[in-house]
Amino acid sequence: METRYLTIRREAPDEEIMQIAAALLREGRLVAFPTETVYGLGANGLDCAAVKAIYLAKGRPSDNPLILHIAKPEDAARLAREINANARALMAAFWPGPLTLVLPRRDSVPDAVTGGLDSVAIRLPNCPVARRLIELAGVPIAAPSANTSGRPSPTTAQAVIDDLAGRIDAVLDGGPCGIGLESTVVDCTTPVPTILRPGGITREQLEAVLGEVEIDAALTQPKETPRSPGMKYKHYAPKAPLFLFEGEAEATAAALLAEVKAALGRGEKVGALVDETTALLLPQETVTVCYGPRGDIKAAAARLYTALRSFDRQAVAVIYATGVAEDGLGLALMNRLRKASGYQIRCIKGGVDHG
Ligand code: AMP
Ligand code: MG
Repeated sequence: METRYLTIRREAPDEEIMQIAAALLREGRLVAFPTETVYGLGANGLDCAAVKAIYLAKGRPSDNPLILHIAKPEDAARLAREINANARALMAAFWPGPLTLVLPRRDSVPDAVTGGLDSVAIRLPNCPVARRLIELAGVPIAAPSANTSGRPSPTTAQAVIDDLAGRIDAVLDGGPCGIGLESTVVDCTTPVPTILRPGGITREQLEAVLGEVEIDAALTQPKETPRSPGMKYKHYAPKAPLFLFEGEAEATAAALLAEVKAALGRGEKVGALVDETTALLLPQETVTVCYGPRGDIKAAAARLYTALRSFDRQAVAVIYATGVAEDGLGLALMNRLRKASGYQIRCIKGGVDHG
């Protein structure tokens, strides 16, 4: 199949192009499109065959459920059989935006979307292209990230093409995504809402509205089985092994530098993903990708996935990365980095390596 490449202005999407893309979706075809988080691979969420085609194109395990994207808040009631007070408060505060709510499903939602669960995940995105596309399609749009399963999510149309060219019907190129990490997934079926996946809406923002939120145990203890099926799979991984260094910035930078030098000494092609201050310390032959200024978590989040993909293109043998503080968007960024590392983490405290 030939993948159509359609360029679109993100803030003022061309109606004719949007109509073409919406018609493809209504016909049961696959269209990748930008959102404020990452690029999504869309299909008609009420069409079983179209939803199954998403799993096939991505190579996604069939028990990993999909998020349904809607164009207006009222559409949630057609998919969820109950929307409780917590869910309503979150919708009012954060929709449209990077927040996905897990709610009890209606029978009309296909099993192919929910992976057979009794709940459904719903999001109202903020990106004008995404919203107009969903509105014109006239159906909820199932849309996981538009990458091959297990790979870093795409934040540009080119990254979508790199993974899925020839496997999907079209991609709408609306430029790079602003946030660069996926939506926060919150389970609203528990008495205290539970974060299943940290993302674009922070824990602090959720707490300001709800008073209290829980964090799924699997997010802090990787051996726990997560309640969000998607979190158990290998994710966001570049091709080379990635080692993550966590801890106080100066000590971490020193430990990473020692590791980089040792690997270069063994003749390896070494990648480093670090802040600008640490980058200045590294030997010139290091393939260095910068997050941006130390402490600027927003910039780091927006660059993470393109950075991981650039290491693939440069065919490095090993990647060493520093972490960030875990407040705000840092919780989501660290979650992605830890998964990308396959939990190969070195905790550096005050210059002492704690393994
Ligand atoms: P993706 O769209 O690929 O970024 O992933 C969607 C995420 O939402 C995955 O981690 C899924 O496991 C999660 N998810 C989707 N539907 C549900 C649901 N009904 N219950 C819990 N988690 C869900
Ligand atoms: Mg994904």
